[in-house]
Amino acid sequence: MPKLPPERWLKSTAAGLYCEPGCFHIDPSEPVERAVITHGHADHARVGHAHVLATPETVAIMAVRYGNAHAAAIEAASYRKPLQIGDVTVTLLPAGHILGSAQVMMEYAGTRAIVSGDFKRRRDPTCAPFEPVPCELFVTEATFGLPVFRHPVDAHEVARLLESMALSPERAHLVGVYPLGKCQRLLCLLRESGYAAPIYLHGALRALTDLYQSLGVDVGPTASIEGLAPAALNGALVLCPPAALADRWTRRLPDPVRAMASGWMQVRARARQQGAELPLTISDHADWDELLQTVADVQAGEVWVTHGREEGLVHALVQRGVKARALHIAGREEEEGEP
Ligand SMILES: [Zn+2]
Ligand SMILES: [Zn+2]
Repeated sequence: MPKLPPERWLKSTAAGLYCEPGCFHIDPSEPVERAVITHGHADHARVGHAHVLATPETVAIMAVRYGNAHAAAIEAASYRKPLQIGDVTVTLLPAGHILGSAQVMMEYAGTRAIVSGDFKRRRDPTCAPFEPVPCELFVTEATFGLPVFRHPVDAHEVARLLESMALSPERAHLVGVYPLGKCQRLLCLLRESGYAAPIYLHGALRALTDLYQSLGVDVGPTASIEGLAPAALNGALVLCPPAALADRWTRRLPDPVRAMASGWMQVRARARQQGAELPLTISDHADWDELLQTVADVQAGEVWVTHGREEGLVHALVQRGVKARALHIAGREEEEGEP
């Protein structure tokens, strides 16, 4: 068979990216016959597909969130294990974003395309690191696709939280975290920084944290604040979903210092909007330098940019001699994967 460039067989459709010779969509925004899911965040993993393929960890995450009947047929594929779907060889590769997150590598007609899904390049104690693999076409996210986005070192942000706790030992510290990924990563980063005390979790964080623990991610001791008097929480560290930072629930805590862990905390207006007096810039997406480095690492002749600030990255890539264009795919959340 003559070589066929990936843009001839990988198509951008209303439901999302569609691989024609394999008859499957990647992270479709509406129910389809066959879906390959990169990871468990709600804007990528949706209910109602006839057939779902994902890593075993993503399958487990979807079962916790949606129950076992979210798709008619569910198939798990481990990283680096090639599968034949129609005429296409599909291989899932680690993306370093959250537990189970995968890039989708497709090989067909002598060419290779890789869809990154959401990814980052920094070490994350909760998941396997991103694996760059050379390809002809790379489809990259660009959540933080502007040169202003340069994320600090995680340990530095965690140290700021611990310093604040040391300065106000009588107050509780309440940190807003996305329930899938950020919560468990922050727990692990705190443990690596030497914080060994139990960390209190809002009830909405419990199920996925228990799942991570059962899949071998040791987050250390956690506890519920149910039934505790405020005085028992002096000096406590409490994690909650971002939306709970400002609700009545927080009255149970003694004069809490409100913090938020997100890549967006670099934007002060966002921090204020979330009610975070202590913004911690901890991101599960590639920053500007990581995006450019990754495109260089995979040596792709063509790059499609999706999911965020497409135009900035497209412009920078074209300047560097890479053929690039923006894909405007509907249904992606601007937040870090979590509505
Ligand atoms: Zn996403
Ligand atoms: Zn995500």
